[in-house]
Amino acid sequence: MARIVMKFGGTSVAGTERIRRVANIVRAQAAAGNEVAVVVSAMAGETDRLVNFCREANPLYDPAEYDVVVASGEQVTSGLLALTLQSMGRKARSWLGWQVPVRTFASHANARVGAIEAEPMIEAMQGGEIAIIPGFQGVSDNGRITTMGRGGSDTSAVAVAAAIEADRCDIYTDVDGVYTTDPRIVARARKIKHIAFEEMLELASVGAKVLQTRSVSMAMKYNVRVQVLSSFVDENSPSADSLPGTMIVSETEMGKLLEEGKVERQSVTGIAHDKNEARVVLTRVPDKPGAVADIFTPLGEAGINVDMIIQNVGRDKGETDVTFTVPQAELARAQAMLEDRQEALGFNRLITDSKVAKISVVGMGMKSHAGVAATMFKALADRGINVQAISTSEIKVSVLIDEDETELAVRVLHTAYGLDAEDDAA
Ligand code: ADP
Ligand code: ASP
Ligand code: MG
Repeated sequence: MARIVMKFGGTSVAGTERIRRVANIVRAQAAAGNEVAVVVSAMAGETDRLVNFCREANPLYDPAEYDVVVASGEQVTSGLLALTLQSMGRKARSWLGWQVPVRTFASHANARVGAIEAEPMIEAMQGGEIAIIPGFQGVSDNGRITTMGRGGSDTSAVAVAAAIEADRCDIYTDVDGVYTTDPRIVARARKIKHIAFEEMLELASVGAKVLQTRSVSMAMKYNVRVQVLSSFVDENSPSADSLPGTMIVSETEMGKLLEEGKVERQSVTGIAHDKNEARVVLTRVPDKPGAVADIFTPLGEAGINVDMIIQNVGRDKGETDVTFTVPQAELARAQAMLEDRQEALGFNRLITDSKVAKISVVGMGMKSHAGVAATMFKALADRGINVQAISTSEIKVSVLIDEDETELAVRVLHTAYGLDAEDDAA
């Protein structure tokens, strides 16, 4: 017997028919004698719909009321799953964020998970009742509903798994694992059987949306066993214990697998893209100490996250151009702040471009392989793709390119790093 958390994403619960399939998967785990907690997302498309209502009602919406609206999608699916399991003769009940409770802190619409006081829920589970928790939602210190940022149900699932000391956390989605890149873009993407926490964290943070970034850092911190697998399995398929998904493992476990020859380490493990960045160029900034501090300090204080930065070599007149990226959603705010300070900062023009994409290659193998960045630049250059900015970390290289070239760049790099799956015919 094990205690498990099962999380089902939006596509998996889109409609009562799909919820019935989910109920069957859950029922099988409970019937095997496991204690089961299920975390559900809203139906696919529902959160977008609710966000749009908020925008229509008031473009400058209050995030606390936004949370009241958008948290409702998960409430519907958790109730429906409980009803469906009950119709199959199983004991099941929903536990809303404020009922568990799932305590959160920091800002509305982007709350962080704090303590989860799960004792009553655990008792119910021990009594054979399946616990169903709406993902994405929690409750603030002053008793108001909060949500955890888009994709937050993954984090709910991992947080619940840590709180109830689950043996594992199974993330069921519409793909059967983590791939070398988004399988919707590259048909020859390969499923990764084991991936280290650090790599998954980096991939998620540069745009692989299969897991929310915070869910990975939380799993790493509390050592939760996470696997990603498909909910689109036929009724007679094997149970999660033998389904071939992707296991997220610690560096130590990864080391063992490498030693035993069960996995092979390549220079690049995966490729991700992100179309949500925007580029800002400030021309003819005075080339003197403190100039960049004056630009970036107010942005930082306003909570605007600057990602890539380039400062050109100064021109003869003691001037330079500064280029950087911010999330598209923050562009208007950043632009307004900089324009307000134009005189003090002394730049000539502010140029923005939202039609850019960040492409990143990630892999622990980069620590020991040289030439990873050079391979990237050459492969892109061979296809005439211009690189507008670059940033690197120990296990990642990112470039900023024209958004229209996103798919081409991802495909070209996937081939350049030898990640394409073999042809079936070969
Ligand atoms: P859910 O609704 O189950 O949370 P998401 O849409 O959030 O599902 O995440 C699953 C999607 O993530 C997949 O359909 C796939 O298109 C996308 N994705 C992006 N990068 C990857 C990757 N490297 N591996 C697998 N899926 C990826
Ligand atoms: N429903 C929320 C979203 O679409 C949370 C989630 O599905 O993880 O962002
Ligand atoms: Mg998701």
